[in-house]
Amino acid sequence: MKILSVNAGSSSLKFTLFELPEKKELINGTFEKIGLNDSFYSIKINGEKTKKEASLKSHADAVNILIKELLENKVISSLEDLDGVGHRLVHGGNKFSKSVIINDEVLEAAEECIELAPIHNPANILGIRTFMKALPNVAQVAVFDTAFHQTMDKEDYLYGVPYEWYQKYGVRRYGFHGTSHRYVYKTICEELKNDKLKVINCHIGNGSSLCAIDSGKVLHTTMGFTPLAGVIMGTRSGDVDASIIPFIMKKENKTCEEVVNDLNKKSGLLGISGVSSDSRDIEDGIKEGNERCQLANDMLCKSVANYIAMYNNMLNGADVITFTAGLGENSILTREAIGNLISSLGVKIDKERNNVRGKMTLISSDDSSIPVYIVPTNEELMIAEDTYELIK
Ligand code: AMP
Repeated sequence: MKILSVNAGSSSLKFTLFELPEKKELINGTFEKIGLNDSFYSIKINGEKTKKEASLKSHADAVNILIKELLENKVISSLEDLDGVGHRLVHGGNKFSKSVIINDEVLEAAEECIELAPIHNPANILGIRTFMKALPNVAQVAVFDTAFHQTMDKEDYLYGVPYEWYQKYGVRRYGFHGTSHRYVYKTICEELKNDKLKVINCHIGNGSSLCAIDSGKVLHTTMGFTPLAGVIMGTRSGDVDASIIPFIMKKENKTCEEVVNDLNKKSGLLGISGVSSDSRDIEDGIKEGNERCQLANDMLCKSVANYIAMYNNMLNGADVITFTAGLGENSILTREAIGNLISSLGVKIDKERNNVRGKMTLISSDDSSIPVYIVPTNEELMIAEDTYELIK
């Protein structure tokens, strides 16, 4: 079956076409700056990437070009060759605990979640509607970032705030990156031939979250009501005392939205280092002796290490710790530093094994109390596999 995996943002659209169940990637690409004057797209096929300029006034233009590229590159011979389209949807609220075939009811429910994810859900829904119009006979599936975390217990997803806020407005921990956490969990279970593993997965990228999973059930995850909470990220603060918001509003004469924007876009590695949100720049800064880059990285590693210790307690002893996403898969320095910070748990990172990027690898030494692995994530494949399972 040929399944298209789609991630539509407000001004971008990423896609990958898979052949399933073989898990073969046929073509992928990204449309960028949709609606702007300098829009363009890039396509990668047989390892070769080409970038093309194109007038992309709307998502519909991007979808039309996408279909044309699939036909011209002969990855499909007609639209009938496409068996399904899987869409990333950031927020499914309390309503979705797994992926679903999209119908009017699902779209309505996803629209009700817009107030919980005002930036992401409208773009995701726009992508779905555009594909439904362009490919009316192809099944469309929604895969939610929040769905995997719906198994959390109430005492773990509620905040210590008036209970009515939860009842009336749905104020609770939802968690995000669920598709990635689920993919990594499934992959490590397959690798170790055990589907009852107790895993602490560290998804550390530009956005970061940790997740404690026992036999497929999520016990806890670091992101919360929104993806702002948890560990320090590229530009996001992670956990802060809410009282900082009115304090800075007064001091800097800012609105609440402006301060929350600062917490989302001007904090984290960028805010602390004053240099960059990108950990490669932070690592370069550290090599040059930049103290604030060192501080930013130390803070990130400590916040991850502290959550690992907490999750090890919640899991009553983890079987495996996994690292994934941009930094988790590629930053040798960060993995080693986090490993050192959890040595009290008996974890030992092997320097030589850890000297690797982007590959499924055991990076702990044989006498480590908990084995530590790199498991590259693949959210696109997970979206395609869910779609395949639902429509086959
Ligand atoms: P993601 O959001 O998963 O794409 O991750 C993006 C983050 O991964 C950025 O901060 C990158 O700097 C970081 N990253 C990617 N490659 C490397 C690398 N080789 N070394 C250190 N950090 C990396």
